[in-house]
Amino acid sequence: MKQIFEKENITEYSLITFDNNLVINPRLLPDGEINSILVFLVPYRSPSKPIDEYGVSAYARVKDYHGYMKGLFERIVPALSKKYGVPFYGFADHSPLNEKLCAAKGGLGVIGKNSLLINEKYGSFVFIGVCLSALKTDNGCVDIRSCINCGLCAQSCPGSAIGDGIILAEHCLSGLSQKKRVTEEEQKKVADAGLCWGCDICQNVCPLNKKALMSPIPYFTETFLDNLSPECIEAMSDEEYSKYAFSWRKKEVLLRNMHALDMKKSQ
Ligand code: SF4
Ligand code: SF4
Repeated sequence: MKQIFEKENITEYSLITFDNNLVINPRLLPDGEINSILVFLVPYRSPSKPIDEYGVSAYARVKDYHGYMKGLFERIVPALSKKYGVPFYGFADHSPLNEKLCAAKGGLGVIGKNSLLINEKYGSFVFIGVCLSALKTDNGCVDIRSCINCGLCAQSCPGSAIGDGIILAEHCLSGLSQKKRVTEEEQKKVADAGLCWGCDICQNVCPLNKKALMSPIPYFTETFLDNLSPECIEAMSDEEYSKYAFSWRKKEVLLRNMHALDMKKSQ
């Protein structure tokens, strides 16, 4: 297993016993015997820094991880199946399991007050994938651990969205920035926080992220968009635009937020 993941520059993975409590979408469970969950983390933090001042979250400045996961599963699923003699089934995002809890129960990190999984090596700048299979393991789940609860994320959150062990989704500006239609008040909140797509504030202030390593995966580090602008988004072909996470909305949403931020700056 180590060899298979090493080839992919993935070091954070864990094999745990299958636990029905981790299932959130049973309809997506594969047919047949499932005995274990192989959970792994894909780090995406790029050493590149934005030159522009359009607040676009780091995960959205690199190519969309769904494309990466698709290619990864095409490589590792056959390799794992061949090695262990049982079929493996890969999932990321559209998953039968609560991936964050799988990672926490696999000992891959703590759960932050900001609700994110925070890994010791790569911080919270990780995507999570899982593979289900009939492979047997004695590794039980570990107890879920919480962050140091310093409160910095809650104090810094521009939407006051971080409560006691809960994120108030309707207040989170990351969500608001991705809404198709926003009220004037919502648009103002997003622009006032300097945001155009997503929000990294509660990640960037977190002390557990201070020493987070950069991703060793070129798919992310070599695709970082460091100089975004409305002109650059408008000029993107549909094909190029579709490679980034913000493409789940049409260009209008990102452009709307960029123009709102420009308006605010010009006032
Ligand atoms: S900023 Fe502090 S409270 Fe928030 S997730 Fe990080 S360690 Fe936890
Ligand atoms: S992403 Fe931004 S708005 Fe949402 S909880 Fe974190 S700091 Fe608050």
